Amino acid sequence: MNRIPEEPSVSAPGDAFDDAFDVAVVGSGIVGLGAAYAALRRGLRVVVIERSARIAGATIRNFGHLCIGAQEGQARAYADAGRGLWLELARASDFWLRESGTLVVARHADELRLLEAAAVDGGIRLLDAREIAAATPIAPGVAVGGARISADLQTNPRTAAEQIARFLASQGVEFRMRTSATAVSSGRVETSRGPVDAAAIIVAVGHDIDHLLPELAQEGSVERCALDMMRVQAALVRPLDAPLLTGWSLVRYGRFARLAEAAPVRERLHAERPDLAAIDLNQMYTQLPDGSLLLGDTHVRDSVASPFQSEDAQQAILDEAREIFGIAAPRVIERWQGVYASAPGEFLRREVASGVHAIAVTTGIGMTCGLGFAEAAIAAATGIPRPAITHEQDLR
Ligand SMILES: Cc1cc2nc3c(=O)[nH]c(=O)nc-3n(C[C@H](O)[C@H](O)[C@H](O)COP(=O)(O)OP(=O)(O)OC[C@H]3O[C@@H](n4cnc5c(N)ncnc54)[C@H](O)[C@@H]3O)c2cc1C
Repeated sequence: MNRIPEEPSVSAPGDAFDDAFDVAVVGSGIVGLGAAYAALRRGLRVVVIERSARIAGATIRNFGHLCIGAQEGQARAYADAGRGLWLELARASDFWLRESGTLVVARHADELRLLEAAAVDGGIRLLDAREIAAATPIAPGVAVGGARISADLQTNPRTAAEQIARFLASQGVEFRMRTSATAVSSGRVETSRGPVDAAAIIVAVGHDIDHLLPELAQEGSVERCALDMMRVQAALVRPLDAPLLTGWSLVRYGRFARLAEAAPVRERLHAERPDLAAIDLNQMYTQLPDGSLLLGDTHVRDSVASPFQSEDAQQAILDEAREIFGIAAPRVIERWQGVYASAPGEFLRREVASGVHAIAVTTGIGMTCGLGFAEAAIAAATGIPRPAITHEQDLR
């Protein structure tokens, strides 16, 4: 597969880039790519500045779960907009994306009551115990019921971003890889390879916002959230055709967590399994096209992501997978740590100097909301309204 070039076109250290762009985007995660795409759709001249040789941040380390129907409020608006953009980009860039919906397994009556309460708003189809068992590879007797969230999508995070970047490059977006932004000011990004000039600058560096804009990060209480993940080979009785959520997921996602019915679920889960509550588990699963299963995930928030991963937490993830699927110990293929920005609100957007916009998704929903959020940021930064999306559908 061709990659986006790992070196910028002008690569001698100290060389200045003499072109001026309409928009310079710092960071090539999903938020930066979304900003570049939004600017490109407006006919603007765009450069993406990325410190790494390849895309390797949170955007490739996640479940690839575009969890649209579980969002609420502003996040839901960005997720809905993002849904259309994901479909459009998948068609243009030819990466794996499926309109799978999401399956939720309820293992207790209180989880079922929470699903019933959320389903009132539409877009969620309740399933009885037999239906959820038939739709998933869960072990017999595990579920008391479940649901399917219809709007959701699934992609392969390992390939989607790279394909989007290649598509953007093919449409004229310039990528300057292995190029660190060291400072931003009106009209200019200082980089490790010289300055880049642009009318509008979008800083989309995720959790590393505290390196580039420390005051903003401090003011917004932005921390790092570090997550343990793994990819396993597991002998499931049938394929997992859609991302699978559990009660541990319901108590985190806005649409469910805001409901009164979430409190008893949270209290019971924490009382029954203080060990899993202590690692802040979101017990969920997605299956990649090659059949391997992504398992996760734990959450630790701090200003620094500790590189030391707890083996007990990883064992707990494996034990829970064995139990829910009724399988022998899965073979671990890979383990990794993902990090995303975490702050009290879900989104950070600030014009830090005239024409310089810092944007970050500050909770674990950037794949779901990042494209829609970046689109809104570019609309605001350029004053050019949003062009129509051909595939947008509201399945609420
Ligand atoms: C384990 C895990 C599971 C998740 N699961 C999901 C999920 O299922 N669904 C969902 O919606 N979300 C999920 N998320 C959240 C989602 O992955 C993130 O919110 C999203 O990827 C953030 O995108 P980003 O572009 O802001 O950051 P990143 O992808 O981290 O990209 C930031 C980029 O900026 C670059 N950069 C940083 N500093 C500089 C600099 N000074 N100069 C140049 N470049 C710089 C970095 O190299 C990096 O490439 C998960 C996250 C993790 C970690």
